[in-house]
Amino acid sequence: MLTLTCPCCGTTAEETEFAPGGEAHLKRVGPGSDDAAFEEYMFLRENPKGVHFERWRHAYGCGKWFHAARCTVTMDVFGTYSAQVTEPPQEIRDRISARRPGWSWREFA
Ligand SMILES: [Zn+2]
Repeated sequence: MLTLTCPCCGTTAEETEFAPGGEAHLKRVGPGSDDAAFEEYMFLRENPKGVHFERWRHAYGCGKWFHAARCTVTMDVFGTYSAQVTEPPQEIRDRISARRPGWSWREFA
């Protein structure tokens, strides 16, 4: 069972209290983009074996969206943070690097 802490209200609960919202930190494209960029945005998602960044909503609590960094293999949660940021906070990245040497943050431009 995955246990998450909502960074908005501080509640720690099992995943059944939350609703998954897919991959976090997607680069959105709009009118004027080329077909390849739109296809990537619309259909292609990361499916890593390891560190992953996801959007979650505290569905049975405060109702707010947030981001979670976790390992898809071990279910380790490296941390949760605001959904109002475009990339994981340095504190979260440092925590991941400490537990997963060799891991590196990919560039989102
Ligand atoms: Zn909450």
